[in-house]
Amino acid sequence: MTMSFSAAAKAEICRVMPQNHCCALAECFGVLLFCNSFHGDGIRIITESREFAQRLPRLFRKAFSMSFDACPEETERKLVFQIRSQRKLETIMEAYGFSREDTLALHVNLAVVEEECCKTAFLRGAFLAGGSVTDPGKGYHLEMTTTHQSVSRETFALMREVMGFSPKTAGRGGGQVLYLKQSEQISDFLTYIGAPVAAMGIMEARLEKELNNKVNRRCNCDDANTSKVVEAAQEQLAAIRKLRARGQLEGLPGKLRQAAAAREENPESALTELAEMMEPPITKSAMSHRLKKLVELAGEGTI
Ligand SMILES: [Zn+2]
Repeated sequence: MTMSFSAAAKAEICRVMPQNHCCALAECFGVLLFCNSFHGDGIRIITESREFAQRLPRLFRKAFSMSFDACPEETERKLVFQIRSQRKLETIMEAYGFSREDTLALHVNLAVVEEECCKTAFLRGAFLAGGSVTDPGKGYHLEMTTTHQSVSRETFALMREVMGFSPKTAGRGGGQVLYLKQSEQISDFLTYIGAPVAAMGIMEARLEKELNNKVNRRCNCDDANTSKVVEAAQEQLAAIRKLRARGQLEGLPGKLRQAAAAREENPESALTELAEMMEPPITKSAMSHRLKKLVELAGEGTI
């Protein structure tokens, strides 16, 4: 089975573990605030990413020197991690400046994401736990979902601060979704959180799309021009035949006779080519003028 674009981006991010303790703590914070449930009475993190599942125990060991109370079976599609021990939950809550009682309104404790390295780590954790990115061949969309109202607002502000652009927001089934729709923003964000290869994939898909559009436009344009040229040439040829049939062709000025001869010998040539065949060569518009004159003369006296 081939990996989805989103899964590949997460796998790429997971290749590097945070070096500093501050960053491990910040990444865990992002994971917890964007995971399935993070409350004083328990933590549940559900993921389908094998790489993220391998990273989680190491990450929590580095940040809190603790292990999960329940880890998933390797064979399951959805991998569920849980922490239920009161002691562990207290340690985690305290690390982020919360007490177990006031966890109803969790928010992004700015002290945890003060350093630049920790801001990156926080957003990385948020994406790994609650994010996904659409295959750019299907469309441009990256999103992260949190169940905490104020976390959505604060992450919005954090993204604006570090990325220089704001995500869009929407409510969905009791959760808050932060999302990006512009290929460049998605690419920048992926690069920022440690997935430059996925970011490149977005930009390549965009270039390919632009190129295809350009080629399509040109083809359509060529087709339209070609049929117009053919139509005009048919009209000119018919006019020339008519003039000859009426015995008028020979009596025309030399310039017009020359134009008629060139058209008859080169029924498919463009105006510019015909113009160059004139003796002496003339401009495209002068050529057009001569051929129009022939059509006009043929039209006269037909009724
Ligand atoms: Zn840090």
